[in-house]
Amino acid sequence: MSQIPDDQLDEASVRAELATTWLGRPYHYVADIDSTNDRLKEWAADPARAADPARATGTVLLAEFQSAGRGRLDRRWEAPPGGGLLFSALLRPGWPARQGAWLTMLAGLAVVAAIESVAGRPARLKWPNDVVLDHDGAWRKVCGLLLDSTLDPAGRLESAILGVGLNVNIPAEQLPVAPMPPISLQVAAGRPIARRPLLLALLDRLEQGYDAADAGQSPWAEWNARLITIGQAVRVSAGSSAALEGLAEGTDEWGQLLVRDAAGRQHVVAAGDVTLRDR
Ligand code: ATP
Repeated sequence: MSQIPDDQLDEASVRAELATTWLGRPYHYVADIDSTNDRLKEWAADPARAADPARATGTVLLAEFQSAGRGRLDRRWEAPPGGGLLFSALLRPGWPARQGAWLTMLAGLAVVAAIESVAGRPARLKWPNDVVLDHDGAWRKVCGLLLDSTLDPAGRLESAILGVGLNVNIPAEQLPVAPMPPISLQVAAGRPIARRPLLLALLDRLEQGYDAADAGQSPWAEWNARLITIGQAVRVSAGSSAALEGLAEGTDEWGQLLVRDAAGRQHVVAAGDVTLRDR
């Protein structure tokens, strides 16, 4: 068990302090799982669970360890047991499909706010789905977000499972090797960071953002203002087609990246199937 005060994430500890109205209700906690996103996807789709509270909007499933944690494009998310916040939330927005990008935006902004209020470190966003910290003059990835959604026959978001992998108390030598060097809040802040207040702040902020978005308020401007990607030279690869190189000029309201190539043509890049390599 963790020696850090307020680090426990078990059901009794979290439920006792949860201030949200619907997000994290119900809240489930497990020591070990393959992937919180995959399990929640099963729960969301299983008709036998129709009367189960796990089908309800707002269910959160958190694990101390994921043996098959995923990022986008079936990439792996790796973190040692007990060192991070690894959880997924089940949402049923009923929004038009393209508005699904708002969920990633809201989650990114909630992670940034939680890091800033609990760990006292300024955080930024990297298009499309990462949260980064400035450490020794370089951007390092502290959190990855993953959205798995299903559409109903009318093209609306029937379910959206939002996965969060945030590096909290992981010593530098236990961070994985990755193209964008990872960092943990512990390494950035120089002290361990209690995970429970971080989770509670994150859920609180995410619920507020979701409710505002559900009432029609776009999170785009706030999200866009936090992006480190704008103004950078980028290289975008999408499947087998030739990589696009250019200047990231901005994003549109649906989270697509606007890239100007050397010939002056603007390209609109959706997040789903591309890899961004900063040059
Ligand atoms: P990129 O990190 O290049 O922006 P991506 O946004 O497609 O790629 P994600 O889907 O967020 O990546 O996450 C998967 C990738 O994150 C892995 O391929 C690996 O490079 C990196 N990664 C895996 N585990 C961690 C971790 N604990 N901390 C930071 N990065 C990680």
